[in-house]
Amino acid sequence: TLFNEMGLSSEIQLAIEELGFEQPTPVQEKTIPFLLEEKQDMVALAQTGTGKTAAFGLPIIQQIDTTKKDSQALILSPTRELALQIANDINTFSKHLPKINVAVLYGGADIKKQIKDLERGAQIIVGTPGRTLDLIKRKKLKVNDIQWLVLDEADEMLSMGFKDDLDAILENSPEGKQTLLFSATMPKEIVGIANKYMSNPFEISV
Ligand code: AMP
Repeated sequence: TLFNEMGLSSEIQLAIEELGFEQPTPVQEKTIPFLLEEKQDMVALAQTGTGKTAAFGLPIIQQIDTTKKDSQALILSPTRELALQIANDINTFSKHLPKINVAVLYGGADIKKQIKDLERGAQIIVGTPGRTLDLIKRKKLKVNDIQWLVLDEADEMLSMGFKDDLDAILENSPEGKQTLLFSATMPKEIVGIANKYMSNPFEISV
C-alpha cells in the first residue's frame, strides 16, 4: 500500500511527502484505512519508533471539524517530552489544512498558560494524565465533544503511576467516542483497561 491509496486528503499527502515519508510503516498500513472508515475501538501492540504518531494522527486530523473550536481529540501520553513531540508532529502533518489548534498539557509548568490555550479553543489536546485530569476537574478542558481518545504508550503510563488518573479520565469522557490504545506490551492491567472501557476493540499487532 502507498500513502496515496489510503484515503488521505491531498493536503495531508503533501505534508507527508514534504517530510520525506515514502511509504507507510506497518502500523500505519493497518491503522490509517481502518480509522478513516470505522468508529470501532482499537488496541494496537506496537513499539515506540514504529510510526504510531502518524498512524493515529493522520486519520484524526483528516476528520477534525475545523469549523468548530471544541476539543475533539484527546491524546494521552506518559511524558511531557512525548506530548510535545506528538503535538509538534500533528502541527507538521496539518500544515496544509485549515488551522487546527493543538494544546499541550503537562505538569511542572505554569497552568495559567495552558488554561489560556484551552480558552482560545483547541480541537486537539495532547496531555499527560495528571495535568489533563486536573484541567478537566477545573472545567477548563471540556471533554463532552471528544470523539477520539488515544492512549499512547499505555504501558508506560501505568508504570509511571497514572492508573487512577486514566480511570478518572476514561470514566469522565463521553460514551460514543472512539478509544485507541497503543502499547508496547500487554500486561494484564492493560487488558483490564481494554475490557473495562473499550467495546469489542479491533486488535492489531506489528
Ligand atoms: P513515531 O513512532 O511516531 O515516534 O515515529 C518514529 C520516527 O519515524 C519519527 O521520526 C517519524 O518522523 C518517522 N516516520 C514515521 N512514519 C514514517 C514513514 N512512513 N516513513 C519514514 N519515516 C517515518
